Amino acid sequence: MNLKEYSELSRDELIERISRAKKEKNAVVLGHNYQRDEVQRACDILGDSLGLSRYAASTDADIIVFCGVMFMAETAKILAPQKRVFIPEKGAGCPLAAGANMEDVLKLKEKYPDHIVISYVNTTAEVKAVTDICCTSGNAIEVVRSVGEKPVIFLPDENLGMWVKKTLGKQNMILWEGGCYVHQMIRLEHLEAARAKYPEATIIVHPECPYLVVSAADMVGSTSAMFNYVKEHDEHVILGTEIGLIERIIREIPDKKVDWLKPDAVCFNMKQITLPKLARCLEEGFYEVELEEEIRAAAGGAIRRMIEIG
Ligand code: SF4
Repeated sequence: MNLKEYSELSRDELIERISRAKKEKNAVVLGHNYQRDEVQRACDILGDSLGLSRYAASTDADIIVFCGVMFMAETAKILAPQKRVFIPEKGAGCPLAAGANMEDVLKLKEKYPDHIVISYVNTTAEVKAVTDICCTSGNAIEVVRSVGEKPVIFLPDENLGMWVKKTLGKQNMILWEGGCYVHQMIRLEHLEAARAKYPEATIIVHPECPYLVVSAADMVGSTSAMFNYVKEHDEHVILGTEIGLIERIIREIPDKKVDWLKPDAVCFNMKQITLPKLARCLEEGFYEVELEEEIRAAAGGAIRRMIEIG
């Protein structure tokens, strides 16, 4: 069946096909917190990119379908090379990850040979392969702290790098000039308006937001940290991140009072995954993620060094 034919099926028919194919193929469907609501509902596990990849490495399933952007599916393949990993839309890329290529990173390494290259997981497998240590938004501070006084090249998210640099007071960090268009939409005026309207609320923002926003928030955290905070606290929380996470919170813990800092902060790349594409992926095998073994092994080294740090 082609995609048009899948698109003509009802929601119930798609869900039924997805469930049947998962059982028949011993497949697990992982979904990032920024996926569409209807896709999240069809996933077995939801979470952030690293949590999902760690799950991919430990699952008994033969097939992993990753509903997210390409670097996430690649990371699952890097950590679970013995599994077949699929993504329902191969064009679902992350512009932040696409902004750093291996050749430019190699040039920087040549120019600054004594620097440690620390890359956010939002990078391609090729960039990870020339990286010393990976990091996530949840452990970036710990990873940079682990190298001590050594100089660092940090890529590709400048806002995340700036937050780390300011938090640690580390001067010898070269920051790559990249950013996430979704979190860059969240500005100081949005935070100030929310603060004026709900002075009692706790405002938590993602570290990919501009530093002006990050430095004015009550807390800074990854999507998992935000989810856990809301779960464990009862006060009104306002979140500065992509709206998919907030939709998940409203669905899974509806008794909590949560608001968006910017309700139109939407990642259109994440939203490229749809239910018809997920059904086609499971039934027809579109699209398998394949990596050259040399790249996969080198990238795995950078991720493993991060996991060792914590
Ligand atoms: S939210 Fe930003 S960093 Fe995440 S996938 Fe979308 S563009 Fe990339």
